[in-house]
Amino acid sequence: MGIVERGGAGTTTPAGTRVGVPWLGWTDGTCAFCTSGRENLCTAARFTGLDIHGGFAELTVADERFCFPLPEGYGDLEVAPLLCAGLIGHRALRMTGDARRLGLYGFGAAAHIVAQTAIHQGRTVHAFTRAQDVASQAFARQLGCASAGDALAPGPEPLDAAIVFAPAGELVTAALRACDRGGVVVCAGIHMSDIPSFPYADLWEERQIRSVANLTRADAVEFLDLAPRVPVRTTVTTFPLDRAEDALDAIRAGRIEGAAVLVP
Ligand SMILES: [Zn+2]
Repeated sequence: MGIVERGGAGTTTPAGTRVGVPWLGWTDGTCAFCTSGRENLCTAARFTGLDIHGGFAELTVADERFCFPLPEGYGDLEVAPLLCAGLIGHRALRMTGDARRLGLYGFGAAAHIVAQTAIHQGRTVHAFTRAQDVASQAFARQLGCASAGDALAPGPEPLDAAIVFAPAGELVTAALRACDRGGVVVCAGIHMSDIPSFPYADLWEERQIRSVANLTRADAVEFLDLAPRVPVRTTVTTFPLDRAEDALDAIRAGRIEGAAVLVP
């Protein structure tokens, strides 16, 4: 999230505009994926903070075509999690189709936003966390989840879909077991520990496992329009920019409810 200082040649965004600079920083627009509405899979894609400098910076240069005006009504800190956690979470939610009974495995930044959107859409949301993580379970219930409990145990009802945000492979098989016939397990992380082997019977009856990668600009436009109408409220913990490593440690240790936001 940043404020436009000035535009380069050919840009139209006025100085002073608050924009989001998302993970998807550039695509070629010409490959088979870009030309079929799947620029998130572009083989030449460049990502902010990975291929493009400025992900952790006070000033950055971004391609206007990949930046988005942010909804009014959110403070700078509250709007920041809509970008990464919100956008990836929203694409994962879209991959669950019209699933009515939805499980969220790992209740961090993305899940706390997806839960609100999914409940707004009339879905029943069950949160799954580490068994002993009663703080996250209470946070999930407070946001309107129908239940919250141990991720390795079955939920109170079979699921039509599950989204796995936590990077633990055993959650994929746990989520699969928690799914009803025809259920889909969507893996939303970039990295995950190995998925344990499991009996084919757990996949039988048209259950599916799939992943979600990155985002398209269409996802971003859709979600940034939807979020204020839910309205999605984000819970944030701030860290100074030079303590980014501490923020990552706190996330790994599960010490943060909602999203961590770095402030320069
Ligand atoms: Zn491409």
